[in-house]
Amino acid sequence: MRTPKGIGGVTVIDQAYYVNLERLTNAMTSFDGIDLKHVNLILTELCSILRACKGVTEFFDSKELELTGKGEKYVCYDNGAASDTFLKIQTEFPGGLTARCMVYHESGTDPWTELEQSRLNTIMHMMLGFLSRNRLDHLADNLSMRDDAGYKTIRYYMRTVSRMGQEKLVHHAAIRFNLKHFSIINQEIGRQYSDEVMHKYVDILEEISGEDGVVCRLGGDNFIALCDQDYLGTVLSHLEGAPVFYGENNERVIVSATAGVFNMDENYVYRGPDDIIERITMAFNVSKNGTKGEIVFANADLEADRENSMRVKKLFPQAMKNDEIQIYYQPKINVQNNMLVGAEALSRWFQEGNLMLPDSYIPVLEQSMDICRLDFYVLERVCRDISRWISEGRQVVRVSVNMSRRHLIEDDLSDRILDIIDMYDVPHEYIEIELTETTTDVEFRRLKNIVTVLQDAGVFTAVDDFGVGYSSLNLIRDIPWDVIKVDKNFVPIESGINTNTRTIMFKNVVNMVREMGRDCVAEGVETKEQVKILRENGCGVAQGFFYDRPLPVTEFEKRLDQKYYPDID
Ligand code: C2E
Ligand code: CA
Ligand code: CA
Repeated sequence: MRTPKGIGGVTVIDQAYYVNLERLTNAMTSFDGIDLKHVNLILTELCSILRACKGVTEFFDSKELELTGKGEKYVCYDNGAASDTFLKIQTEFPGGLTARCMVYHESGTDPWTELEQSRLNTIMHMMLGFLSRNRLDHLADNLSMRDDAGYKTIRYYMRTVSRMGQEKLVHHAAIRFNLKHFSIINQEIGRQYSDEVMHKYVDILEEISGEDGVVCRLGGDNFIALCDQDYLGTVLSHLEGAPVFYGENNERVIVSATAGVFNMDENYVYRGPDDIIERITMAFNVSKNGTKGEIVFANADLEADRENSMRVKKLFPQAMKNDEIQIYYQPKINVQNNMLVGAEALSRWFQEGNLMLPDSYIPVLEQSMDICRLDFYVLERVCRDISRWISEGRQVVRVSVNMSRRHLIEDDLSDRILDIIDMYDVPHEYIEIELTETTTDVEFRRLKNIVTVLQDAGVFTAVDDFGVGYSSLNLIRDIPWDVIKVDKNFVPIESGINTNTRTIMFKNVVNMVREMGRDCVAEGVETKEQVKILRENGCGVAQGFFYDRPLPVTEFEKRLDQKYYPDID
């Protein structure tokens, strides 16, 4: 760079100064990230041109700290030479922060000219601005890497994983976990001690996770961790339950967790931190519902489940429009006289001609309100079939339709059901609605209301899968169901063993239901033996493979016309 400099033109020193100043400006404002070493090298050049032996920048959080000299000090350059004078600039920020920059003149060299002093001033201002900005970035970065309680955050985790990359992540395991019953520990030992317990539990976990092991908090008692596979055994046994000592008296509490684990072995292909988090979250969600144990590994099966679930979600909206969902009817038979007395409508999804059973799509649809669309669709198709049967002069039986618990979120279920039935002019007594037990009080009240409204309108109601899950006696005491459907796991397999709990319970439930004036349907009846047990115990109706599997509509119509089944003997 050439700048006219009055008489004499530009000296070699001037030129070196301008070149380095330009380099410094570029280095400090680089978009490709700041390279501090590079900045320091340029400063060294500039200091030697300007006969400075040392450059220092300091930050003080308050006036008092400045007086006692307690602050952050950055030595940008120091050639070790002695100094007798210095230049100083100082800035005070709102909030009490003081920043200052000093540059020392090297003893025994020519004193600084006015021009040199003004050049040093420019450099010091640049330095102060540059360091202030970097310091702020650094502080902000650190703030987001730790939460209020001092735990590392998910951002820390993401940064660690990104920095490690494919090569270093191999032979590591990622874990997502939740502390079990921590709210109870909280209640029992108090907030302060439980905070201490959580910190200790997490610190120990990090310690035993290997050299680059980390544990970060997602929030509450949810964490995410990374550990060397060599230490995974120890880590998992810590998660399965470990004693933690707390308080002055060294009291002890056992802490355990449910966890989803993803092992990154030699075949692992790194697809970014989000992918890892998604995998452990999927396994973690399975661990939470407890069906596959408290520690669940992300593996090919889970992966297949996830793919199936994504496919179902994607293809479902079109499935109804394309007539891919068919209604199958499973007959219900009066075991005393072998007469066909009803049927349950069950959906079947034919995807590109392949039959998919409800177990592969119902649980997925139940994760969203899609299940409600399916249920109304099934009800509509059933009403259409019934109205056709009536117009064809067939003797019609009552058909039950399943309504998922999801519907209870909205409070217009009964109205919508009645609207659909009336749209097809189907006499209300031909429709039965199957609902399952609920877990919350609000749902319980809604359920009771729906059952009452439907009954007043002459539509039948049934409680499905009675005897499994959380179904309690309140469910049949407080809600006036017409029908109780006893789950297949509750129906005895063989008679004669009176001490068998299953038999005793079955007998008594059937009796109770009968005395309450409700109908009892036994599901999953597969053998002659079971039909006999139903007869002996006064359970009126059976549904199961013994009589028929769920049938396509044309097959079911044959049963309608036939009306009776052959006697079992
Ligand atoms: P569910 O309501 O308990 O239906 C009875 C299930 O037991 C049916 O399975 C049926 O095929 C099966 N089953 C019947 N007899 C026997 C037997 O003798 N032995 C055995 N082992 N099983 C028997 P499916 O059709 O696979 O349906 C499974 C579940 O999917 C149903 O259980 C129901 O909860 C759900 N589902 C099916 N269609 C719908 C629907 O349209 N809406 C809703 N919300 N759920 C549906
Ligand atoms: Ca059912
Ligand atoms: Ca059932």
